Amino acid sequence: MQRWRDVARASGLASPDGSARPTIFAEMTVLAQRTGAANLGQGFPDSDGPAWIREIAAAAIRDGVNQYPPGRGAPELRRAVAAHQLRRYGIELDPEREVLVTAGATEAIAAAVLALAGPGDEVVTLEPFYDSHAAAIAMAGATHVTVPLVPGPDGFRLDTAALGTAVSERTRIILVNTPHNPTGTVLSRPELQLIADAARRADALVVTDEVYEHLTFDGVTHTPIAALPGMAERTLTISSAGKTFSLTGWKIGWVAGPAELIEAVTAIKQFLTYSGGAPFQPAIARALVDGDPDIAALRDSLSARRDLLVAGLRDAGFELVVPAGTYFVCADATPFLAEGDDGAAFARALPERAGVATVPVSAFCREGSATSQALAPWVRFTFVKDEQTLRTAVERLRELDPRRGAVQR
Ligand code: GLN
Repeated sequence: MQRWRDVARASGLASPDGSARPTIFAEMTVLAQRTGAANLGQGFPDSDGPAWIREIAAAAIRDGVNQYPPGRGAPELRRAVAAHQLRRYGIELDPEREVLVTAGATEAIAAAVLALAGPGDEVVTLEPFYDSHAAAIAMAGATHVTVPLVPGPDGFRLDTAALGTAVSERTRIILVNTPHNPTGTVLSRPELQLIADAARRADALVVTDEVYEHLTFDGVTHTPIAALPGMAERTLTISSAGKTFSLTGWKIGWVAGPAELIEAVTAIKQFLTYSGGAPFQPAIARALVDGDPDIAALRDSLSARRDLLVAGLRDAGFELVVPAGTYFVCADATPFLAEGDDGAAFARALPERAGVATVPVSAFCREGSATSQALAPWVRFTFVKDEQTLRTAVERLRELDPRRGAVQR
């Protein structure tokens, strides 16, 4: 069996004949463009990040910062990441040995999993999970084990009993994503502590995906698991600039942690992309140092857009879980499902039916899993779109007829 087929299958991208399909995000964006639907499917901002940050990159291109940057990343960016982790979270890092710049968080996650897990190892993630996490585990030939997040009045919360069963001496890595895509959950301190305890008991490593670290609402704050007592020595913390500064196409990410683990990840990373993004690196270095007001402004505006979409979806008749962070809100589409349909069928039909694009939550689950069945009628909407697009989407969704599973016109 060729490895790419395993990867396609693990990330839900395999067609019945085993051939690869585009990701669900790309599929829904194409559908939205074809139908003129308001695209609340793929999570990318429809306005670019701060002009002053883009200006630094433009100047770098003009000034000749256009050849390979150092394999571990520009020294000023590594210093800025270390300073950011210290200032925000009290995590101390040596920028020379404990920080590696990557092509977005996606490369960091793939390189970390490839470096540290292989056939016979288990890698534990939450479920639902971001598609590239499952793909990275499959590329490494490791076994993917999941712990459900369960929807309730307090949001999607960790199934703590399932955590106890999932983590064992076979566990090599616990891959933790918080704030969480797609549910918008920000794991609480006690939940993180349970994961930390499980990791220590099993002598497992923790790899994190914290790309939405700054996009939290209602005074909820993000805690990196590496900041918990005794966890820095077994944790690789991964984040990126894309979400924080609305520059998702720049693909500047980083991984930070103990020198010997960073050494291992570097060994893999240098043969994936070697290095990249030379003119963007100095711009992100400055953004991490001087960009706090921009981050605060984005958080406030995103929080207001979340409120707008949450109110609109409720008004249209969706049950939902209010997200404490990220770009996303998950909603139960049960009242709108035609006989025999699930969230995936609903999502594929919605651009035509109502002029709105969404993504089914089952795309973030293992095929046939209990979580996939429990969340089969759920869909994810993004609110990282301008207010007008959100208003248009909400007006269109209000026209959905709950009883008939069809639009009344
Ligand atoms: N992170 C974005 C989302 O979750 C999508 C990125 C992608 O298209 N791969 O919607």
